Amino acid sequence: MSFSTLKLSTPILNAIADLGYTKATDIQKKAIPVVLSGKDIIAAAQTGTGKTASFVLPILEKLFTNYKKTEKKLRAKRIRALILVPTRELAVQVEASISQYGKYVDISSMAMYGGVDAQEQKQRLIWGVDILVATPGRLLDMAHQRVLHFDELDMLVLDEADRMLDMGFIDDINKIIERLPEHRQNLLFSATISDEVRALAKRTIHKPVEISIGADKSAQPKIEQWLVTVDKSNKSALLSHLITTQHWQQALIFIETKHGAAKLVSQLEKRGICAESIHSGRAQDIREKILNDFKVGKIKFLIATAIAARGIDIGELSRVINYDLPAQVDDYIHRIGRTGRAGASGEAVSFVSKDNFRELCAIESRLGHIIPRKEFAEFPVKKIVPLSKLNYVTKYAQSKQ
Ligand code: AMP
Repeated sequence: MSFSTLKLSTPILNAIADLGYTKATDIQKKAIPVVLSGKDIIAAAQTGTGKTASFVLPILEKLFTNYKKTEKKLRAKRIRALILVPTRELAVQVEASISQYGKYVDISSMAMYGGVDAQEQKQRLIWGVDILVATPGRLLDMAHQRVLHFDELDMLVLDEADRMLDMGFIDDINKIIERLPEHRQNLLFSATISDEVRALAKRTIHKPVEISIGADKSAQPKIEQWLVTVDKSNKSALLSHLITTQHWQQALIFIETKHGAAKLVSQLEKRGICAESIHSGRAQDIREKILNDFKVGKIKFLIATAIAARGIDIGELSRVINYDLPAQVDDYIHRIGRTGRAGASGEAVSFVSKDNFRELCAIESRLGHIIPRKEFAEFPVKKIVPLSKLNYVTKYAQSKQ
């Protein structure tokens, strides 16, 4: 389906054409008409499916037709749409998409997040902002300080809702929602619709249309997943071996701790492989620079802790490596969603040690299939990882049944 059938105004269609998008993705086809009709939605969609445009485009359209054409002025310290996101990286990325899609319409947007000086953000709020993309903590701060009021808000988006809940933002989100006008449109996007996400939706959303793109395999990113079983002590040697012998040109490598990230950089360096790391211990401006260098290919191998890597959007990321397998299945799904975006193909490789058996069972049970294993003769395994049982239920899930 081309975008022209989606009832978007010409300046928005022109911006989409400039980006070279020819067809709407599945989530865009399903969500855009519903959002334009004014209904609430709850959508199960992972990063990489084009979900950002599926809410940004209709929001721009509605603001453009309802306010900009009529030249209705925005009052000081007011916003019309609020997009809540879990991390500052995602805030920056979503705001960049708004600027791209909205470049031919006069709609203002801003990313607001913690960890940086608040003064500049306060200054920008003074004139009001049409679309504010914010992390929950900093948003609440601004509301408490009365530099931001919600009485003109029309639309609320909860993006990556499952992740916001995982990161413990539930109280902040509830406090924010209490402050919003009751009459508003709500859009909730989440990679997975867990019981917690449903409970949040119940409190926040009014008779939502449920959208899931899981059923349409053709619209899903093409990600080749495989794993290597490896003894813990051999992981860094195995990574160097794969980078060299498989001629990998680029990889985003997930690791558990910031200490581990720094150590891996130096272990790779000793084997002549240049890598960088991002984690919460590095200053925001350095993280941003490293991310940009990675995006343009100046840095080929980026080692990231999970939180630092949230929201990373790299159009052509060909490969993610789970150097450490995540403890939560949702994290695995999010991570592999970093590659193979919007129909491109990608590769997700996981290093699995005997200690990870439970996590592996949980991941493969969720996927509904065993992840193919590859063996490398140079790295024989002392501690064998058994094959998973696909009906594995985590203790946490058992306690909810
Ligand atoms: P998202 O799922 O929102 O993180 O988007 C994933 C990537 O797909 C981003 O780099 C977008 O620029 C790109 N994208 C979004 N919609 C389309 C489309 N209709 N055609 C091609 N690329 C798209």
